[in-house]
Amino acid sequence: MDIEKKVWEILLSEEDIRRRTKELGQQLSEEYANKKLVVVSLLKGSFIFTADLVRQLSIPVKIEFMTTSSYGHGEESSGIINIINDIKKDLTGYDVLVVDDITDSGLTMKFVMEHLSKKNAASVKCCVLLDKPERRKVDIVPDYLGFTIPDKFVVGYGLNYGDYYRNVPYVFVVTDKDR
Ligand code: 5GP
Repeated sequence: MDIEKKVWEILLSEEDIRRRTKELGQQLSEEYANKKLVVVSLLKGSFIFTADLVRQLSIPVKIEFMTTSSYGHGEESSGIINIINDIKKDLTGYDVLVVDDITDSGLTMKFVMEHLSKKNAASVKCCVLLDKPERRKVDIVPDYLGFTIPDKFVVGYGLNYGDYYRNVPYVFVVTDKDR
């Protein structure tokens, strides 16, 4: 796809995202108070959301990063999830919160949560900024969610288009000009 022949349409503004992230931070701070919280951020897509979310937490938190295989330049998941970089931390006794940019088929999140559950964590939950429930291939519902969105390919705020545009501070939809 050639981005020059596309229309950008803002789906979520910086202010929308800021407001919701603040609410999630407050909710998580209450629910994880007096727990040993470890946030596991899935790279690359969630690096911006994670950075903003953890700064809204008023409780102690450890932060780890994990890289799984992603869509690359395409728009469809291969259905096969690979761990490219696992976390090295011993999770025994920790309450793990996996943070991702978007849940689409759900394959990535289900795989990662099952993988981390085998590391002796006290609990494993997830928080995603965006959810496209219409595209689900496995049974998973985000424990904490920013926004439910329609079945459209979204870009910005960490989400890439051909590995570009992750730095755009809002979320936008790319569509064909003649649509
Ligand atoms: P899932 O395993 O749930 O199908 O997909 C998870 C990953 O696919 C996300 O972390 C994200 O990297 C990528 N992805 C899914 N939907 C979109 C989308 O609409 N836009 C972009 N840029 N990436 C997406």
